[in-house]
This record gives sequence, C-alpha cells and structure tokens, in this order.
Amino acid sequence: MFVNKNDIRPFDKKVWLSSPTMHGDEQKWVNDAFEKNWITTAGENINEVEKLVAQYAGMKYAVALSCGTASLHLATKLAGEKLYGQAKPNCGTLQGHKVFCADMTFDATINPVAYEDGEAVFIDTERDTWNMSPEALEKAFELYPDVKLVVLVHLYGVPAKIDEIRAVCDKHGALIIEDAAESFGATYKGRETGCFGDYSAISFNGNKIITGSSGGMFLTDSKDDADKVRKWSTQSREAAPWYQHEEIGYNYRMSNIIAGVIRGQMNFLDEHIAQKKAIYERYKEGLKGLPVTMNPFDEKNSSPNFWLSCLLIDKDAMCRQVRGENEALYIPEKGKSCPTEILETLASFNAEGRPIWKPMHMQPIYRMNGFVTVSGNGRGQSNAYIDRGEATDIGADIFERGLCLPSDNKMTPEQQDIIIELIRSCFE
Ligand SMILES: *Cc1c(COP(=O)(O)O)cnc(C)c1O
Repeated sequence: MFVNKNDIRPFDKKVWLSSPTMHGDEQKWVNDAFEKNWITTAGENINEVEKLVAQYAGMKYAVALSCGTASLHLATKLAGEKLYGQAKPNCGTLQGHKVFCADMTFDATINPVAYEDGEAVFIDTERDTWNMSPEALEKAFELYPDVKLVVLVHLYGVPAKIDEIRAVCDKHGALIIEDAAESFGATYKGRETGCFGDYSAISFNGNKIITGSSGGMFLTDSKDDADKVRKWSTQSREAAPWYQHEEIGYNYRMSNIIAGVIRGQMNFLDEHIAQKKAIYERYKEGLKGLPVTMNPFDEKNSSPNFWLSCLLIDKDAMCRQVRGENEALYIPEKGKSCPTEILETLASFNAEGRPIWKPMHMQPIYRMNGFVTVSGNGRGQSNAYIDRGEATDIGADIFERGLCLPSDNKMTPEQQDIIIELIRSCFE
C-alpha cells in the first residue's frame, strides 16, 4: 500500500546520514585534559585510547594519529619502504611501482599511493560484499605479476572477502594494507577488522561509528612498525637534545583533546553497532515487496558494524537516470525509480541519503589508471556504459543502481518508518 507523499510533512530536524552521537563521558575526558593542561599531542587520553583500541581490535600496538588518512599514508609509506627499500631523495617509497587498490571506496583509501609516488591499478568489486573481487585481483596478478602491494577496504562496515584475498596475496607474495576506517567493530570469522592487514588503519572522523571529531589509528603487531609510525608522525625527531632529523617527518599525531572524545566514545562502540544493526534490519523488513535489496554481507562468516544501510534497485525497476560529472537527471516512470529520485525525495523531506561512493576508475583524477574486471576488457568500460546507458563493470553498476540511506543512530523508528514510506512512494 502506498502512502500519498502529500500527507507526509518534512522532518522538523534533519535526519542525517550518520552524525556524531555524544554521551557525556567524552566531555569528562576533555575536561580532564584541560585541568591537567595537556593541551597538546601528548597526554593520558592518547595513551589510554591507544591501549583501548589495540585491546578492542586484538592488535599489539596502536598509534593515535590526526586522521584515518594520515594512518593510511604512513601504512603505505611503511609498505613501500619494506618492499622497495628507502626512497631516493624527492621520491615516495613506492617509487613508481603499481599497487592494486579497491575501486569502490572513498578516495582517502588510495590517495596515499599517489603521495608515495606509486601507481594505483583499480580492482573491480564483487556482488556479495561490495568489496574487492578476489577473482579480479587474481586476474590483475596475471596481467601485472610484479605487483607486491594490495589496498583493500571494508566498505560501509561490511568485511571484505578477506580469506580469499589473503590467499591470492600469499600466492603472489604481496602485502596488504587494510582500510578499516568505516568498519571499526565489524568482525570476520570472529576477529576484528583492523587486524587482517600487514598494515591497518581506522578512522574517528565525525561521521564514523564512533568519533573524536577527527582522528585515526594505525594498528600493527610489529613493535618496529609502531615505533617508526610514531616517529614519522612527530616530525621524525631523532633522540638528540636539539631538533635532529635524518628522515622526512610529518605532523600527524592525535591531539590529547580529541583523544579525550574518543576515550569517552569507546564505551559506546558496541551500543552504536547494535543501533546501526537495528536500523539495517528495519529497512530490510520495511522495504520488503519493493524491487530492491539491501547491501549484502557474508552472513555465515562476518558480522558488519552496519555503519551505513544501503539499497540496490533491481535492474528492471530502474527508471532512466543520467549522471554528468556534477549533476544528475532522471525521467520518472510508473512502478520504477532510481537513486536520484529517491535521494531528491528524501532531501525534500529533510532526510540525508547519499549516492554510493563513486568508483575510483570513474573519477576524473584517476582516469588514466589501470582497471581490472572479471568480465572483460577493463578500462574503457566506464565510457561504454555512459554511451549505452548501462553499466558493464560491477562498481559502475552498483554506483548507478545503489544509494546510502539515512543511517543515523539517533533516528527514531517512527522517523525511519516515514523514510521507508517515502522510498515506497518513489515506486508508485
Ligand atoms: C573516512 C574514511 C577514510 C579517511 O578517514 P579520515 O579520518 O577522514 O581521514 C579513509 N577511508 C575510508 C573508506 C573512509 O570512509
């Protein structure tokens, strides 16, 4: 049964995609930093947060950094140095080498490859978890057997096919960088994401499952790696009475104020995950009967943190939608809809959704990079899809038919019911 959109009033207060949820403990630890005057990039909150996160993730060492991107950068720099030795002057540690990278992700995952003078080759997505396809990865190694580094992501908090990817990487002697920025608290075969990479990173950005307003964490079981990242992140200062530098450094350390916020949030990670899971399940139930499916995960082996709930519209239920570089248009059609129509409808009722993260191989900045798909000829397909109005690689297809739904853990069931009705009305 369809509800008439005209009977629904816009939300008085915006329903967000995913906004910070504070509980009070955060303020306590921020005040503690003020009282002790540790208003800097050192202090008790930082030490405590490193301990808490390492414990939670089941890793020996955690290094608190200014953001997830900084964590990924230093992970990438470490991997490059390990693989190719110390970089020549004026050159990043990847020294022109190719790196296999997740394609459907936020660009922060793979920009560090460029920072370190590597060349990203994008690997298409699989349909079971919307992450890197192990088959496409295997094919990529056939095309480029010399590659020694793979960057994977657990998109929207859904663990990737870790065992399969690890098996392919082991076979070809490649290291893994794991971007767990969105998946803190998600598990795969009972182990936390963030412990599957040779180098792993999580994020505490404002929209993540828990937040410090910003902040990131580098995770490792290697003391040497942890020490190195800590040193690089504090301008690579040598142990001398004066500022002594033998390597290029960065100002990437976490602030003790931000660490106070994260310290307070840590107790609520499990609660946030439970709320996000309830949201996902309510959507799944509420959208039954519509020609859509929710973002999938491996129900047997993985337990996502359900950071964002997403949906995918069936192919034959898509109305015509055209996306340029900055704008989208669609033609309404009875019984059909598209992400643009749903997002515009939600926005007009003061609720925030978002398109699926646009795949990297479709981004202007990475248009010249390689792209490997299982189905065929790789690079060039994204243009073919624009010409013919249909996607032939999996990433472009999910981008075209999928969208992220309002997933804020402060959204009430009543608000979510209204959002579900609005989505239903789009298929009228
Ligand atoms: C948020 C995010 C990052 C970057 O984290 P910041 O803390 O914002 O720098 C990296 N990768 C993915 C997949 C993200 O969602």
